[in-house]
Amino acid sequence: MIEQVAAQLMEAHVGQVTLNEPMKNHTTWKIGGPADLFVVPDSLENLKKTMEIIRKAQLTWKVIGRGSNMLVLDHGIRGAVIKLGEAFEELRVEDERIRVGAGYSFIKLAVQVGRMGLTGMEFAGGIPGSVGGAIYMNAGALGSDVSKILEEAVILWENGEIERITGSEMEFSYRTSILQKRQGIVLEGVFSLRKGDRKEIAKLMAEHKERRMLTQPLQEPSAGSVFRNPPGDHAGRLIEACGLKGYRIGNAKVSERHANFIVNLGNATAKDVLQLIQFIQKEVYQRFQVELKTEVLVVGEA
Ligand SMILES: Cc1cc2nc3c(=O)[nH]c(=O)nc-3n(C[C@H](O)[C@H](O)[C@H](O)COP(=O)(O)OP(=O)(O)OC[C@H]3O[C@@H](n4cnc5c(N)ncnc54)[C@H](O)[C@@H]3O)c2cc1C
Repeated sequence: MIEQVAAQLMEAHVGQVTLNEPMKNHTTWKIGGPADLFVVPDSLENLKKTMEIIRKAQLTWKVIGRGSNMLVLDHGIRGAVIKLGEAFEELRVEDERIRVGAGYSFIKLAVQVGRMGLTGMEFAGGIPGSVGGAIYMNAGALGSDVSKILEEAVILWENGEIERITGSEMEFSYRTSILQKRQGIVLEGVFSLRKGDRKEIAKLMAEHKERRMLTQPLQEPSAGSVFRNPPGDHAGRLIEACGLKGYRIGNAKVSERHANFIVNLGNATAKDVLQLIQFIQKEVYQRFQVELKTEVLVVGEA
């Protein structure tokens, strides 16, 4: 079945098509078993074709960006994984509006618009991942997030329909959006920024970067904050107060630099990380009666 779908996609020349692609090559944690079928369509037309073939075959599917917020389990992902590659990295500047493809790097975008003297995206200077992933997650930092700047998103829904929807229709709230309820693929985002002072923007971004370098384990593979902050508190504070910095299961370890980060010491399995997540949840609950919920998305089969 999967082989047949792969053959159809190859015959249709949709782009890169791979069977049993190790997902650890596509996640920042460098963890994850194989995806049955991995497709990188090389144009919008070919993405549409890909989705049509997948729909007809009734195959389950998942889109990924740069895998910076995902724990892919050790037995990998059944069905198809679609990655938006270079074909979805177009950037157009229309005065204070930025129209950008979903595959574009969110950090690179923040740096580039800052250099153009546009303000509003300084918060994004340290958020790895793609524009599509940032919209899906309503990614944010430093009191701002995607919801504050997104004017509109272009989405390819599961039924094949392409729709432009406004920022207010995205149902954004803390690290969530409508896309977490209704499956679709972000093709493009339109961000509304303001003219600012180039030097001020650069200074602010340099300060944020320095702070991240001091407080986050950026040299080790991770997926950023593992847990959502509970209302009025910080997951990292609670974990640290339980004395868990440095706690290790297998090759997964609570970072000594930032207690809400779990780092891969080398060849950690998703099982190591999941066990560590569950251990942290249990300890924090016992001590503070707070149920920590994961911000990272756990996908695939254990
Ligand atoms: C060192 C580090 C620091 C981080 N700091 C922050 C931070 O300060 N703030 C913050 O919010 N996050 C942070 N993160 C987490 C992560 O970078 C963000 O959540 C990011 O927005 C995820 O983007 P991605 O492209 O990697 O998404 P992925 O991890 O690939 O996917 C995440 C979800 O988005 C969906 N998705 C991806 N692309 C699309 C698309 N085109 N259309 C529809 N759905 C899509 C996927 O299906 C998946 O469900 C950090 C991560 C790391 C490693």
